[in-house]
Amino acid sequence: MLQSQLFTKTLRQAPSGEETVNAQLLTRAGFVKKLMAGVYSYLPLGLRVLKNIEQIVREEMDRIGGQEILMPALHPAEIWKKTGAWEKVDVLFKLKSRTGKDYALGQSEEEVVTPLVMQYIETHKDLPKAVYQIGWKYRDELRSKSGLLRGREFYMKDMYSFHENQADFDNFYDVVKQAYLKIFKRIGLVAKATEASGGGFSEKISYEFMVLTDAGEDNILYCDACEFCVNVDIAKQKANDNCPKCRNGKLNAATASEVGNVFDLAQKYGKDFELGFKGRGDEKQYPVMGCYGLGVSRLMGVIVEKFHDERGIIWPQAVSPFDVHLVSITKDSKKAENIYNALQGAGVSVLFDQRDTTPGVKFADADLIGIVHRVVVSDKTLEKESVELKKRNSDKIEIIEIKELPERLTRHADFRRNLQ
Ligand code: ATP
Ligand code: MG
Repeated sequence: MLQSQLFTKTLRQAPSGEETVNAQLLTRAGFVKKLMAGVYSYLPLGLRVLKNIEQIVREEMDRIGGQEILMPALHPAEIWKKTGAWEKVDVLFKLKSRTGKDYALGQSEEEVVTPLVMQYIETHKDLPKAVYQIGWKYRDELRSKSGLLRGREFYMKDMYSFHENQADFDNFYDVVKQAYLKIFKRIGLVAKATEASGGGFSEKISYEFMVLTDAGEDNILYCDACEFCVNVDIAKQKANDNCPKCRNGKLNAATASEVGNVFDLAQKYGKDFELGFKGRGDEKQYPVMGCYGLGVSRLMGVIVEKFHDERGIIWPQAVSPFDVHLVSITKDSKKAENIYNALQGAGVSVLFDQRDTTPGVKFADADLIGIVHRVVVSDKTLEKESVELKKRNSDKIEIIEIKELPERLTRHADFRRNLQ
């Protein structure tokens, strides 16, 4: 893509009213634009990152047998009244039509997915099943000041599983937990599986996946010697206590952002909708269900909170909006264009900066936007048929022969596509 054609421009200053690093940098670099508190447009660069994250999530959900669907965001009030959530869920957005009918905007979709899937489940032989979707969620959050970390409209992956019995659910629950850890690892984040209360549906502990960051809104305690981690809200322990699990380590306090969670819905929704199936002894049974949320747009914000410096964003390879930022500061524009075409031909995605502006402006923009590799085409290196290659997360500059460049960067592009 030609940078001169991008309709967005970088901003020198963060807009007033954005307090968090993720919102400041993403806005300055032209990835997102705020419409109102907690509601953002995703611009060409931002949408590419969001789709990269989404694709990693999709691959891992497909791999464990999830079937992708897309459910409506506009819901009739009746289904929310049936489960008690119309009264109980404080973040539910409610609307009235001009004929006086009540509707809700989806903040989660148990009320839609339970009747949908159970329509096809006749006997225990039709189970287990897992369906998921990736799309917008709406929540009437009181405070929405953390940029992409807390939206009133945000992008979420939500999966729902249906099981014959508790044991089958328990097995799948663990499979999803492992898939989540893999997703975060592929993205380049370390997430701690944190014990939290079961959310009222079951006695079982649920897991929240927490990434340590000062911008996060959760307080956790984690062991410095093993993987034990717990949300402070429910914890019996306090900072500096001995770890209850390994007994060797000490508990550290930290702030974190919840990027996903998995939990046990028990039989609540099947019972609320009176939708069951024929069990092994022909008796009517209700499904044991699980739900598994993952904050795709929040993850984008968390990545920026974790990976940036004073000059801008530093995208991890797996989600970088392009493989390469090709910066031309040569008078020989034809040579630079040839490199652009050769890289694109080799399947490497490129943002090509051939704008008529100073090298200083181009380098500052490249650092702000944060694409994983920067290639500079200058008169000096062209004399040796070479270019400069630098990674955004390092100061080391390599001189690479032009004829070797596509092969060198294809390896990176392949690595990124196959990183699993
Ligand atoms: P939180 O405690 O942060 O409000 P939650 O427990 O309400 O999260 P869930 O209902 O389980 O979250 O939603 C699943 C995932 O969606 C969360 O783990 C989080 O990553 C993301 N998420 C939840 N609320 C928001 C929001 N307002 N903006 C962006 N992402 C969100
Ligand atoms: Mg919430």
